[in-house]
Amino acid sequence: MVGMSEPCIGVLALQGAFREHRRALERCGARTVEVRRADQLNQIAGLVIPGGESTTIGKLLADWNLLEPLRERSRGGMPVYGSCAGLILLCTDIENSDQPRLGLLDATVRRNAFGRQRDSFEADLPLPEVGTEPFHAVFIRAPVLLRTGPDVRVLADVDGRPVAVRQGTLLATSFHPELTEDLRLHDYFLDMVRETPTRGQPS
Ligand code: GLN
Repeated sequence: MVGMSEPCIGVLALQGAFREHRRALERCGARTVEVRRADQLNQIAGLVIPGGESTTIGKLLADWNLLEPLRERSRGGMPVYGSCAGLILLCTDIENSDQPRLGLLDATVRRNAFGRQRDSFEADLPLPEVGTEPFHAVFIRAPVLLRTGPDVRVLADVDGRPVAVRQGTLLATSFHPELTEDLRLHDYFLDMVRETPTRGQPS
């Protein structure tokens, strides 16, 4: 049973794999809500930005006047987890692109970084932050980080390029944990939300 004291996690539901993230979070015991409007940000203690197409999600965030309210909540301490396109949208710098973004994660990202030959692939990645067993990571036209700022901690890499990082209350992965049965990253994000002093709720 989901306790009412459990924080409510928003899943940005403009485009992409939001249903899979909801399912994973709910399997971890969280309450979830699909977020499409700025006023809904008041109900949530954390937000997941799913994979999909970052240019589309970014354009919809801009069209729906969600960029600034979301930046404000994040700067106010609400944890945010971005996977794949979600990671791209969190970054301050996107190589060769001026597409809309939140620009909260001090990093430079390269989209579709693995090229055609490794367009989509799976890999067992050491991810000590969530446990000793490797994490089975699914990459789909995935980005990598080319640069990370001093406050960004690398949690996992592929060939020396970061694919999972944390900067304070921001978590980002190039891959899609919501497409596997491994709930450790969603659990880890829920712990980040529970550890937030105000539980990420606006005062
Ligand atoms: N290649 C996509 C983009 O640039 C991201 C792919 C994904 O989210 N699986 O937005």
